[in-house]
Amino acid sequence: MTGQKNKVVIFLGPPGAGKGTQAERLAAEQNLLKISTGDILRDHVARDTELGRQVKPILDEGKLVPDAILIALIRDRLASMDAVRVIFDGFPRTLPQAEALDVLLEELGAPANAVPLLEVPDQVLVDRIVERGRQAAARGEAVRSDDTEETARKRQRVYHEQTQPLIDYYAARGHLYRVDGVGTPDEVYGRILAGMK
Ligand code: ADP
Repeated sequence: MTGQKNKVVIFLGPPGAGKGTQAERLAAEQNLLKISTGDILRDHVARDTELGRQVKPILDEGKLVPDAILIALIRDRLASMDAVRVIFDGFPRTLPQAEALDVLLEELGAPANAVPLLEVPDQVLVDRIVERGRQAAARGEAVRSDDTEETARKRQRVYHEQTQPLIDYYAARGHLYRVDGVGTPDEVYGRILAGMK
């Protein structure tokens, strides 16, 4: 046993809202494991695994990977943990994923503690995503193949249709709090901590 207390944070918010950046800092400062399903899937694509080959066309189109695949991935990650200290970034993204996560967390005796929702207006989001692609290219880094304006808009539509219902789901459980995602990363981080208590 590590003697550490369980802690589960779920970041909600549209693509480009800054979940990854904020989750990374919170993970480092509070000794939590950041689980980013987008990173995990892109890593499979980069390593050209069987799963990677299966999901690459889905990622490129900006659609969602089937729930069963994601739920199995998350179950594996959580199974090996001693104390459950995690931040979810990009998961859950659908109601079935949220329900499955609740069951998993209940089995582990580690219910969600906090669900910050990062709010950023749609047009700001698309600009950020396209800019992220541009800057990666300028640094000579690999550009995410889904960081184009067209796919960004598609991901945004998918978010509104499939992920936004999770806001009500978590609000009903009393863990959700809204965070203004417009501002410097430091400002946004301060708001996240303030809401966490
Ligand atoms: P962003 O939030 O910027 O869209 P992510 O890195 O979170 O980027 O996700 C990139 C892509 O990975 C998504 O568009 C989707 O195809 C896939 N993906 C990631 N997480 C999930 C999930 N929980 N369920 C289904 N698909 C997912």
